[in-house]
Amino acid sequence: MSELSSDLEKKIELKGMDLNEIGTIIKNLREKPFRAKQLYKWLYRKSAFSFDEMSDLPLILRNYLSKRAELKLLEPKKKVSSKIDASTKYLFKLRDGNCIESVYMEYQGRKTVCLSTQVGCSLNCSFCSTGKMGFIRNLSTGEILDQFLFINRESDFSITNIVFMGMGEPFLNYENVIKAARILNSELGPEISARKITISTSGIVPAIYRFADEGHKFKLAISLNATTDAQRDKSMPINRKYPINVLLEAAKYYTRKTKRRVTFEYVLIKDFNDSIDDAKRLRKLLSDIPCKLNLIPYNETEFSPYKIPDEERLEKFIKEIHRAPFAVTVRRSQGRDIKGACGQLYLQTKNE
Ligand code: SF4
Repeated sequence: MSELSSDLEKKIELKGMDLNEIGTIIKNLREKPFRAKQLYKWLYRKSAFSFDEMSDLPLILRNYLSKRAELKLLEPKKKVSSKIDASTKYLFKLRDGNCIESVYMEYQGRKTVCLSTQVGCSLNCSFCSTGKMGFIRNLSTGEILDQFLFINRESDFSITNIVFMGMGEPFLNYENVIKAARILNSELGPEISARKITISTSGIVPAIYRFADEGHKFKLAISLNATTDAQRDKSMPINRKYPINVLLEAAKYYTRKTKRRVTFEYVLIKDFNDSIDDAKRLRKLLSDIPCKLNLIPYNETEFSPYKIPDEERLEKFIKEIHRAPFAVTVRRSQGRDIKGACGQLYLQTKNE
């Protein structure tokens, strides 16, 4: 224990390490190799909050790790549960004082956690509260995982689905997000099925090609939210770099390469992208892509002038789009009363 590698002389962030990396730590400590698996399980499967809980590790190892390693990468600062549906929003404080949000949602038997991947976001989508914060920094793999680990433990380890759809653009923090997804999917970890882990992008085209080429089994969702470039340029400035036809080419490549469907998310905003013409264009744009479409009526926020379409208009849009050859679901936003849209709770708390 006295001859330690120099990387253990400073506090190490164990969470975020994969089994090989933990194996190296254990080896450097001259512990038996099977300790790596034990430690990995305590971190990711049992969501241990302290080294004291790790009862099958030798006391000397636990004591050592508690002095030299960080276990808690975030702490809950605020938690708000909805009164109208089964969703809860968490505001977590990171060790550098920055805050991020995560959401827990129950819907049709699924228990889903929506994770943040960055503090703030550089992409400035006009309908998004996080975009108003600007970009502060990427989250580490451990910080991404710790949101899940905390909420999963609070929910008696019952989480079934994960979406990378919180604050930030996951594909601008690609390596850390993929590593977190792998750990979440791992056999000794939480073992969430890859089909139940969705990574959502606003349309970072090179990363879509990379994701397809690397052959990940996680699901891909693309936030489309518009049917013309003029419209999308206005609401999602990333469109000026990767316009709709370039984005849809990448989506087609993904489906060809992986033989999987892609999910398109379309947030319906009153008098902006909710006309019958939009529905017809949307149907046409997606009709030759193996895909699923999620329609999401806008979750109004005090930070944006956008409104949710009225019911009648919504029904007409849905009726029109249902003639499409692909599957369509309508997902009513959850947590309307708890500032469910990403970035809202952060901005509100900041102003308190
Ligand atoms: S919608 Fe997503 S990509 Fe756009 S600003 Fe918000 S967090 Fe960033």
